[in-house]
Amino acid sequence: MGEANPHILLMPEAKNRKLCAICGKPVDEVFKPFCSKRCADVDLHRWLKGNYVIPGASAPREPEDEGE
Ligand SMILES: [Zn+2]
Repeated sequence: MGEANPHILLMPEAKNRKLCAICGKPVDEVFKPFCSKRCADVDLHRWLKGNYVIPGASAPREPEDEGE
């Protein structure tokens, strides 16, 4: 049977070639796609911020105080 050669999936050259998107250091397998937990946290914070801040739209205000 001529199934796809699994060795093709192994790309040793691509391994360890990625760089941390935050600081540009080589990615650590443990923290990939980042080089360290710190950078992973940085990215996470960026992501969260981007989610909270909606460009072009002011923060939605809650309706006026509901009468107590
Ligand atoms: Zn980094």
